[in-house]
Amino acid sequence: MTTPWTRVDAVRTAVLAAVGAVVWAVGWFGVSGEPALEDQIAPMNLAVVGVVLIGIGYSSWFLAGRRAVGTRRRAVLALVPEVAAAPAPVGANTASTPPADGFLGSERLYHRPDCAMTADRAWEVEPRAVHERAGRTPCGVCRP
Ligand SMILES: [Zn+2]
Repeated sequence: MTTPWTRVDAVRTAVLAAVGAVVWAVGWFGVSGEPALEDQIAPMNLAVVGVVLIGIGYSSWFLAGRRAVGTRRRAVLALVPEVAAAPAPVGANTASTPPADGFLGSERLYHRPDCAMTADRAWEVEPRAVHERAGRTPCGVCRP
């Protein structure tokens, strides 16, 4: 297995951040010594380039970290073959047909009866059309 977070990633991040900081500092001091606005524009642009370099450095660091997490996650999931056949999480309804007995309605939403959001609720079960006439929208969890 290759190392997802490489020394190259760390060096690239450090170099970009350091160069960006130097460029920003040069721009900063260039602006601070110029009283006229037109003489401040070029050093200000230089400072902006420095900030952009710092941003690119840390963005590459962040993306390298995301790649490392993805690589390790895939490696771990490859060791657990039954994950692919795991049941849906509690509350996630994958049925393609609505329940015959209707949906439960809250003040703004309506849900499938087995939705996790309806646990311990005393809501009435009514057809979808009743909920839609009442202005309720489908729940984003159970997607009735
Ligand atoms: Zn729901």
